[in-house]
Amino acid sequence: MIEWNIQSRAHSCQACHKLFEDNETFHTLLYDQKHAYERLDVCDACWSSQFSEGAVDRKGFVSHWVSVYTIPPAAPAEPIGRETAESLLRKLVEQNDPIHVGARFILAVMLERKRLLKVKAQVNEDGHRTFIYEHARNGDLFNIADPKLQLDQLEEVQRDVAQLLEHGLIVKSAGEGVGMQGATSGPEEAAGDRASAEALQKDGEAAAGDAPNLVIAAEP
Ligand SMILES: [Zn+2]
Repeated sequence: MIEWNIQSRAHSCQACHKLFEDNETFHTLLYDQKHAYERLDVCDACWSSQFSEGAVDRKGFVSHWVSVYTIPPAAPAEPIGRETAESLLRKLVEQNDPIHVGARFILAVMLERKRLLKVKAQVNEDGHRTFIYEHARNGDLFNIADPKLQLDQLEEVQRDVAQLLEHGLIVKSAGEGVGMQGATSGPEEAAGDRASAEALQKDGEAAAGDAPNLVIAAEP
């Protein structure tokens, strides 16, 4: 069972604690910790000496991939309240409400097409498939359950996504009833995302089946 929602990329090796440098190659290992999948980011030297073949005691990771560390960009100065596919997905993943499982998947596929997210691994457990997506710029990992959408469910999910992009995520906070979080005011990006949602609808079969352009991380 996957209990974490978003796991950020480390800024230093989690084995030897050396800070990663800009453009340094590092390794991400995904461990099955029974209650959660946990990522471990290590430098190339630690990978070679401790984690790659030969070090049997440190095996047990379910997936492994190589990335290039880049100094994180400054947070973009976006107008407050502006909801994009990315900011919306982040909120939905953190909220992890089962009602939006389809919306999370569709948004992830939209962002994959924009090359903002990449599938790094997929994990199967008890017949449930989960995609591990990595953010192209800051390396955050998102876990996105495969909702196994049927074609006749797509329209409803598309409506959910369009509604969320237009009005923001409605969050119920205790004692305050229903409040709005991040109502959209950015017409261009939101309109673009809505257009993408509609394009996906036309292209529904691809979204309902396997996510397109899946890159499955090779087992070590
Ligand atoms: Zn190291």
